[in-house]
Amino acid sequence: MNKIYIKKLECFGKHGVLKEENILGQKFLVSCVISAPSPKNDSVDECVNYALVAQKINDIVSNKVFKLIETLADNIAKEISVDFNIKKVTITVEKPWAPIGLPLKSVAVKKKRQWHDAYIGLGSNIGDSNKTINEALKVLESDKYIRLIKCSSLITTKPYGYTDQPDFLNGVAHISTIYEPYELLEKLNETEAFFKRKREIKWGPRTLDLDIVMYDDLIMSEEKLTIPHYDMQNRAFVLDPMCEIAPFLIHPVYKKTMLQLKKEAII
Ligand code: ATP
Ligand code: MG
Ligand code: MG
Repeated sequence: MNKIYIKKLECFGKHGVLKEENILGQKFLVSCVISAPSPKNDSVDECVNYALVAQKINDIVSNKVFKLIETLADNIAKEISVDFNIKKVTITVEKPWAPIGLPLKSVAVKKKRQWHDAYIGLGSNIGDSNKTINEALKVLESDKYIRLIKCSSLITTKPYGYTDQPDFLNGVAHISTIYEPYELLEKLNETEAFFKRKREIKWGPRTLDLDIVMYDDLIMSEEKLTIPHYDMQNRAFVLDPMCEIAPFLIHPVYKKTMLQLKKEAII
């Protein structure tokens, strides 16, 4: 991998909390660090065109208006990641003329975005489950911050936990996304809601369940989000599809592949 730097690109924009800033505008300095594969054989076709990246940054700074330089930096990072298919980008936005009534060199904000690998557990047992899951995948794919890499076969499974309900259709989708974990959870919850997901009985019947099974090798355990999914190691309806599409992927907590987890699970 190479690192490409654009340093202190001077742009003019109208970002700021004060009304005067939105009317008069001011100078912003944008720096960018891009991680990109090394082009082979001096080939221009394979490299990141930093002239176009700089142009894009300038367009965003001059044509959009945000209150916060945090939002501006994040917006630039997301757009650059998508438009130039860049694995990892860090954007720094400096505001040298920040109107705080004290002399300063600049205030600056730094924001990193990158494409993450995530595995989404898919489940449904109300209505036309096959149709719902396939449509849900299309909804996710239509989001420019998500790319569908691979989906496992959809398998019919017996209900888990609460057994007095119809069989399920389950699978796992491998996606690439620039969403951070909570942003991804929100997107999944919105998609479930779009397909009229109701939460009445724990583990009860549902039109659509979308769970984050894994997200890179991230380990987190918070009230609203646990990654990897807290119970994946006990669920054949997660491990079987995972073994189909990512058999050698390593669970970051157990340090075992999906195949090993499947072999050891009492399921
Ligand atoms: P289970 O999580 O045991 O499969 P479920 O999928 O039926 O059960 P939901 O009603 O879909 O449970 O989700 C309940 C809450 O679980 C969500 O609102 C979310 O905040 C939380 N949650 C925690 N970790 C995850 C995760 N990895 N993926 C999705 N939701 C999660
Ligand atoms: Mg679930
Ligand atoms: Mg769920």
